[in-house]
Parts: sequence; C-alpha cells; structure tokens
Amino acid sequence: MKIKNLFEEKKTPVISFEVFPPNEKFTLDSLYETIEELSKLSPDFISVTYGAGGSTRSRTLEIATHIQKHYSIPTLAHLTCIGATTQEINSLYCDLSKNGIQNILALRGDMPHEMSQETLDNSDFGYASDLVEHIRSQDKECTIAGAFYPEGHKENNDLMDLLHLKHKVEAGSDFLISQIFFDNDIYMDYVEKMHKIGINLPIMAGIMPIVDAKQIKRICSLCHCSLPPKVERMLERFSESPSALKEAGISYAADQIIDLISRGVSGIHLYTMNKVDVTKEILRRIEHIRASEKNLSGVEGEV
Ligand code: FAD
Repeated sequence: MKIKNLFEEKKTPVISFEVFPPNEKFTLDSLYETIEELSKLSPDFISVTYGAGGSTRSRTLEIATHIQKHYSIPTLAHLTCIGATTQEINSLYCDLSKNGIQNILALRGDMPHEMSQETLDNSDFGYASDLVEHIRSQDKECTIAGAFYPEGHKENNDLMDLLHLKHKVEAGSDFLISQIFFDNDIYMDYVEKMHKIGINLPIMAGIMPIVDAKQIKRICSLCHCSLPPKVERMLERFSESPSALKEAGISYAADQIIDLISRGVSGIHLYTMNKVDVTKEILRRIEHIRASEKNLSGVEGEV
C-alpha cells in the first residue's frame, strides 16, 4: 500500500506510529512484541527509523519487512543519505523494494560521530532534497515523505529553512512529517507560512508524549524545539514522581492531538518511543474523536 494514497482515500486524519530499532546488542524479539500490541491500535502506517552512518541500518529493513508481512500495515522506512554514495543508496532502495516497501522517509540525517570527513566528502548527496530527487528519478510511483521543522531547523533560520523545504517538496515529496513540538500555535503558524509559499501537500504533525523529564529536555535541545511555560511547570512540579509525570505527559499529548484534529490537520505522527502503554492510553483518549471523524467523512467502521 502506498501511503500517499491514504490521505486521499481516508478523508480523516491519518494516524501513524514511529518505532526505532533496538541497539544491535539486543534481539528484535521485544520490539516485535511491542509492534504486535501497537498493531492492535489500528495505525494507518508505522514508520521505522534509520541509524545514519551504519548502526541499526539493516534492522530498519528487517523490521519494516516484518510489519508489512505480519500485519499488512503499510510501512514507511526512514532512509538517510549523509555520507552515502549513489551506489549505496541504490542498493538499499533495491532491498527495500524487493521486500515490498514502497514508502520512504527521505532524510539527510546528522553527521554520526564515527563518520570520517573523507566519507562525507565522497558522498553524492548534500541534502535530503538530493535524495528525494534521486529516488524519484528511479521510481515515479513510490511514496516519498520529507521531514520539516515548525520551529526551524537547527542549522538555518526560519526563512531559509522554508525555502529549502519548498525545494524538497518540488524535488518529488508526497507528504511531510514534522519534528516534535509542544505548542500547537507555533505549528499552525508554520503550516500557514508553508501554505503561503505554495506547499500544499498533506502535512503530519509529529507528537511526542513526555514521560521522562531529562530525556525530553535532551531531545528538545538536540531538535531545536521549545518547551512552553505549561510544559516547564509540569516538568518542574512532577519531576520527583515518574508516574505523575507520565500521566501529565499523556494528557498533554492527547490534548495536543485533539486540538490539532479540531484545527483540521491531515495527520498525526506519534513518536511512540516504543512504549506500548503510553501509546495505548493516548489512543484510548482519542477513540471517540477518531470515530467521530469517520462519521463526519461518511467512512464506516468502529475504532
Ligand atoms: P534537509 O532537508 O537536508 O535539511 C537539513 C538542513 O540543510 C536544514 O537546515 C535545511 O534548511 C538545510 N538545507 C537544505 N537544502 C539546502 C540547500 N540546498 N542549501 C543549503 N542548505 C540546505 N535522523 C536519522 O538519523 N534517522 C532517522 O530515522 C530520522 N528520522 C527523522 C524523522 C523525522 C520526522 C524528523 C523530523 C527527523 C528525523 N531525523 C532522523 C533527524 C534528521 O535527520 C535531522 O533533523 C537532520 O538534521 C536533517 O534532516 P533533513 O532530512 O530534514 O535534512
């Protein structure tokens, strides 16, 4: 199933989950148990992250193939091009295609610690838009998604980043997924700017539930994502009680999603962090919203 068709066919917000491969020291068994549980929540697709620079790379293919084979849930395989040659990308893309994966999230990636300057210099790809263009030239039919940053990408100011995003879209992207954010107004303002410069693809909002104060602060500083005062207060108040923070984090994520759906977003991409209980609880809290969206669009079925 090509994910690009979902937005047209479903007529309701597309709901997807992101999972990441465990470190190579661990087996895939526990991730497969996680995926088994996540599949019961009927996501429209599941994406599998990719370790830029080698680590967990082959696992992305293995996990994506497993999901499609066992659950018939469309899979979006992340693929980064930093330090890669055309030959390497062609070989990876060929493996994905052979295993029936027709959906790629085309990324540049960040420079991994272990990558040498020489590898970087020998790469055939400078930016994600080069990867999008290359894959599109090889395959007109597959789905290609791209990433975007509602608060701007860490290496560029807002305006330049928007123009680069437009170029990535024109290179052949089918839809976009956002970086995490905690302020829906910032997200909607950015989406408006995207519309103003002619980016009119389906756009998915990336939501990450807060379950760990230290972890979220680290992720936010790496991802150039701000924490609104409401979230700062939450982190401060519940810092000594992991269960209280988890409850508050789940509520915050569910509220964000409800607000975004009521503002008419095309989709929600949930960064699950491989946590079944948290994902289940968020989905439970929006189950009537999902059902009501289906009724509004005339699509039959229970959630
Ligand atoms: P690009 O779109 O290439 O942008 C990178 C920077 O280059 C931006 O500042 C942009 O403005 C600038 N730029 C683009 N084109 C030009 C140009 N022509 N000239 C000058 N500057 C330019 N990382 C992983 O390693 N594995 C993953 O699985 C992964 N999944 C992700 C999923 C999502 C939804 C998101 C939002 C990010 C993900 N990342 C992942 C992180 C991502 O790789 C980093 O954020 C990386 O820094 C940028 O990747 P990109 O594809 O957005 O790059």
